[in-house]
Amino acid sequence: MNETAMNGTSDREAICPCAPVAAREESRPSWHEECGIFGIWSRTVPVTDACYLGLFALQHRGQESAGIAVTDGIHVDIEKGMGLMTEAFKPRLPGIRGHCAIGHVRYSTVGGSVFANVQPFLAAFSGGFISLAHNGSLTNAQKVRRRLESEGCVFQSTSDSEAILNLIAISSAPTVEDKILSSLEQIEGAYSLIIMTGEGLIGVRDPHAFRPLCLGRLEDGYVLASETCALDAVNATFVRDVLPGEMVVVDQNGVHSRFLQKKAKLSSCVFEYIYFARPDSVIDGTSVWQARYLMGRRLAREYPVSADVVVPVPDTGIAAAIGFSAESGVPWVEGLIKNRYVGRTFILPDQTKRRATVEMKLNPVRANLEGKRVVMIDDSIVRGTTSARLVALLRRAGATEVHMCVSSPPITHPCYYGIDTSIRKELIAAVSTEREIGLKIGTDGLHYLSLQGLLESVGDAKGERMCTSCFHGIYPTDVSECLVEAPEAEGGGEVPKGQVSPAPLSFKSEA
Ligand code: SF4
Repeated sequence: MNETAMNGTSDREAICPCAPVAAREESRPSWHEECGIFGIWSRTVPVTDACYLGLFALQHRGQESAGIAVTDGIHVDIEKGMGLMTEAFKPRLPGIRGHCAIGHVRYSTVGGSVFANVQPFLAAFSGGFISLAHNGSLTNAQKVRRRLESEGCVFQSTSDSEAILNLIAISSAPTVEDKILSSLEQIEGAYSLIIMTGEGLIGVRDPHAFRPLCLGRLEDGYVLASETCALDAVNATFVRDVLPGEMVVVDQNGVHSRFLQKKAKLSSCVFEYIYFARPDSVIDGTSVWQARYLMGRRLAREYPVSADVVVPVPDTGIAAAIGFSAESGVPWVEGLIKNRYVGRTFILPDQTKRRATVEMKLNPVRANLEGKRVVMIDDSIVRGTTSARLVALLRRAGATEVHMCVSSPPITHPCYYGIDTSIRKELIAAVSTEREIGLKIGTDGLHYLSLQGLLESVGDAKGERMCTSCFHGIYPTDVSECLVEAPEAEGGGEVPKGQVSPAPLSFKSEA
């Protein structure tokens, strides 16, 4: 077994998990997906190259690190690095010619952005080896980890994903499949996993189905990926989404499924449709682009304002702006142009320069804004600082009125399922009324999409399939460990063991 590690990025660029919260939050003005995962099994396709292409299509899900593990059934080669795909695999990809590969792109939430946390993880055990890539966050990770440590397990990272690997490695179940299933019965929270062993490629989606995972077909093999856009990247044909609680196993005999015994309320993350996923992906039968378009149409019905132009905040606001325009008859124009070369963790050395981040990323098109009443469409408001800067930008470019429509309800609570959220007291909607938010960001009018409007746009009118916890704080799993582990992150608030977050913070005026 050969494990090679390379670091393609200087420490200076990485976000240090010990950095002051304010500094980290400045560099993360919006929410971030934690990970993208990809796996391939084929005897004819060059699996390393295909894995690279698949991960490239998932780059939007994580830009802090990347890794690929490849096996020929006996040997394993693994390469990992910090940064974007192009940086992480400089100068080489895994060298062996194998028939199975898995990969991971990461945006750290739990554990921080350090090399030890870069996935896939790899471990040897009595039955051979196992390599694992995880998207999501566990809500009982600390409890599991403490138990494993008391049983003698050694952890090399601070990632909760390593607990899953250790559970599998020490399991006494007779087969690898049984080891995985029995391990997963012990964990709670969000996990879409792609696992590689000497025998096969395995994909698992947690019983809530928080994070997406789909199965694709190649001429002589299979692909597993976070999103369908990664299947397209390797010319795989979409077969189906992995079902809640399902373990899909691909090996030399083809593909078969087994299921976890644990049953749970279906809670797919609605933010995949609002913001995280690529618009050309289809998740659980719903087109992400179409869902955003319908959110825009619904916004126009809920907020029938007189305006001259609709302006999307690129890129995630574009489909919703097109929908708003179609419903309202107000033309949509490009009023903000994105600089596509301002990347990911854009850390500037001082506060003044940090303030310039928005202006570096987005520049107004004066010809489309001057003298116009504008409706700006964005996917969400987290802390409100970015929105305020954008509104000011549009006004400086000559807009006479700026209304803001948001294609999600107000975010009032953190996510514990693999999304890097601001801490609660920094979520503007947790501490301000809608009117106060409008005043803070300087709009002439502000409207958030209603929760019902959102659910109807994603094809879940009865609210039976989606997690919407960050809009109300009622979580589908017990999250008390997350709060106890990070009381500071909740503004010191703890909750009694249960599924409901602390009582809403009282509204306060401008801080
Ligand atoms: S809390 Fe929000 S971001 Fe997290 S899984 Fe639920 S809907 Fe998605």
